[in-house]
Amino acid sequence: MTVSKRLLQHLPISHLPGLGDALAKKFNHLGIYTIRDLLLHLPLRYEDRSTYSPIAQIIIGEHTTVQGQIIKSEILFTKKRMLICTIRDESGIITLRFMNFYPNMQQNLATGKWVKAYGEVKKGKLYPEMIHPQIQVRDTPQAFTNLETEKYTPIYGATYGLTQTIIRKFIHLSLILLTRNPTEEIIPKQFIADFPSIEQALTILHEPPLDIDIASFEDSSHPAKKRLIFEELLAYQLSMQLLKSRNQSHLAIPMIVKNRFITPFLEALPFSPTRAQTRVVQEIWHDMALDKPMMRLVQGDVGSGKTLVAALAALNAVENDKQVVLMAPTEILAEQHYHNFTQWFTRLGLTINLLAGKLTAKQKRECYAKLESGETNILIGTHAVFVEQVKFAQLGLVIIDEQHRFGVDQRLTLWQKGIKDNRYPHQLIMTATPIPRTLTMTIYADLDISIIDELPPGRTPVTTVVLPNTRRDQVIERIEQACLTGKQIYWVCTLVEESEILSAQAAEVTYRELQQLLPNITVGLVHGKMKPQQKQQIMQAFKQGEIQLLIATTVIEVGVDVPNASLMIIENAERLGLSQLHQLRGRVGRGQATSHCVLMYQAPLSQVTKQRLNVMRDSNDGFVIAQKDLEIRGGGEILGTRQVGLADFRVVDLIRDQMLIHHIQKVAQYILKFQPDIALKFINSWLPERTKYINA
Ligand code: ADP
Ligand code: MG
Repeated sequence: MTVSKRLLQHLPISHLPGLGDALAKKFNHLGIYTIRDLLLHLPLRYEDRSTYSPIAQIIIGEHTTVQGQIIKSEILFTKKRMLICTIRDESGIITLRFMNFYPNMQQNLATGKWVKAYGEVKKGKLYPEMIHPQIQVRDTPQAFTNLETEKYTPIYGATYGLTQTIIRKFIHLSLILLTRNPTEEIIPKQFIADFPSIEQALTILHEPPLDIDIASFEDSSHPAKKRLIFEELLAYQLSMQLLKSRNQSHLAIPMIVKNRFITPFLEALPFSPTRAQTRVVQEIWHDMALDKPMMRLVQGDVGSGKTLVAALAALNAVENDKQVVLMAPTEILAEQHYHNFTQWFTRLGLTINLLAGKLTAKQKRECYAKLESGETNILIGTHAVFVEQVKFAQLGLVIIDEQHRFGVDQRLTLWQKGIKDNRYPHQLIMTATPIPRTLTMTIYADLDISIIDELPPGRTPVTTVVLPNTRRDQVIERIEQACLTGKQIYWVCTLVEESEILSAQAAEVTYRELQQLLPNITVGLVHGKMKPQQKQQIMQAFKQGEIQLLIATTVIEVGVDVPNASLMIIENAERLGLSQLHQLRGRVGRGQATSHCVLMYQAPLSQVTKQRLNVMRDSNDGFVIAQKDLEIRGGGEILGTRQVGLADFRVVDLIRDQMLIHHIQKVAQYILKFQPDIALKFINSWLPERTKYINA
């Protein structure tokens, strides 16, 4: 039986012996559904547990391995039952403490046995201790020399209820399965001659022997890592190029500017479009007038006025009796667009609807009905616009704001909703992610690109200062003064972990603290865990000046527009990436007043982090910042593209791997030209979802 052709694709993890429904659900939490997903769940890092330190030499706070003989093992009945196990080597003594233990664990850890324990060293009463270390128990010290210790121990991204041991076990089983069912090689040989096979590459990456230079995994110079990067990037390139060429063969409804709504709209607008906005709008209108679907990306720095560009594209579709859907990544942003569009367009007699989570079931049904009957001209929403009930009478234009928050496949799903009588809607995609052009052209290889390279007039650049947390009190004093002069302020709380719950809690603590310290100031709080309606109320109150100081998590990062806010404080700014900081800072400096941004950090800072914060201080230009970011990262600090919020790769980090892009583009061109039949098969092994859009 051939289990499957490439990478065991489509084979569900439940095929692995011992992996039942409950465990499968936990793996699903990590986005792992198939054995292929599991195999591509690469370790976050590796630990060398083969050697151990003499107990006398361990340092409090470090993660290390010790090995010794058990001299005492007892259960203590304090508040909670605890198993305490004392072990000794030639140099000293350490205690191991277990709060949760199995009934037979004390027997297993009987006096006289030998233990190898790995964990964080804590200060104990008499001896240093480890709490819940990972342990191996043997009858003699010689018995420890086994296979496991000749390899690095991989550490995986885990989730509640999935231990490292379980993940390792099933990955190991998957590797065995993969080795028995080797991946079919379909790439022309000349391109992969320098690489190991997929099976070898994955085995090395999951279970590296100790003689491997782990750094070569991280900087992706190791052939095993390169093999996977090559595959994933090639699949991505091929899929984008095929999407683009297939798109050329689709038909769209040509939309020619009639100026029925556009002229009165522009006349009523309190400002005129910038030259850059006008140019980009012309490019869009030109595309929309063709009978091929537009696929255009508008890239413009924060505050460059992308909403107006979207509005002018939307009006063109409406003038041509077609519907428009605008999708935003957050409720706050969708509501803000809804607010703007309603203000701008209601007097033109247009119907704008918001499909938000806060609607009741009845309101949603009404919304769906209006869409289907064609009453709605423009629909604005978040992911909610994906649901099956959303059916358009005649969708003509799909606009996606802040595209980096969505995957390519999400964008394409929405697009397909609009196919009618074999006519495809036009697509307009907007992003503020300031990334260098080569990367833009890779990530958005299926799109034509327009750039808004000018900010509206009258903006004063934001002055940025970098301060240590020790000066927090002074910053708070400054807030008080600023509020007295009528300024509005954002205070952004950041957290190391990407957890909405923890961030919300941290923001709440700061909120209460600042409320107490600043009794004369109206303080508000907004975070991702609030109900949409609550969030909207707070943002509205802030916009109207009722709230002076807004404590926020990074939920305000994308698109929020409150021109009167002119001071932003970002706590623990060192935790955020430069592009995220730039997005956040873009929330101020939108009005006439001079704006300030205070980046507070927790000392001590590494050299690289210091450099990065200084880049923020010295520049307000997204492209300059992005370029510097790349240069600094080149120096070693490697962040995933995921963190920058670009594309949904599993192995590839576009920033780290950019030197491979050119070569892979060439390979993609070769394949499409000489062996087009393998392209789809190959894409299907890496991006199974995407093939259906290519075949559409
Ligand atoms: P972004 O590109 O970040 O989405 P927005 O569309 O939110 O930017 O615009 C930022 C601010 O600039 C808004 O307050 C908007 O009204 C204003 N704005 C946009 N275009 C112009 C213009 N041509 N002249 C003056 N102000 C403008
Ligand atoms: Mg915007």
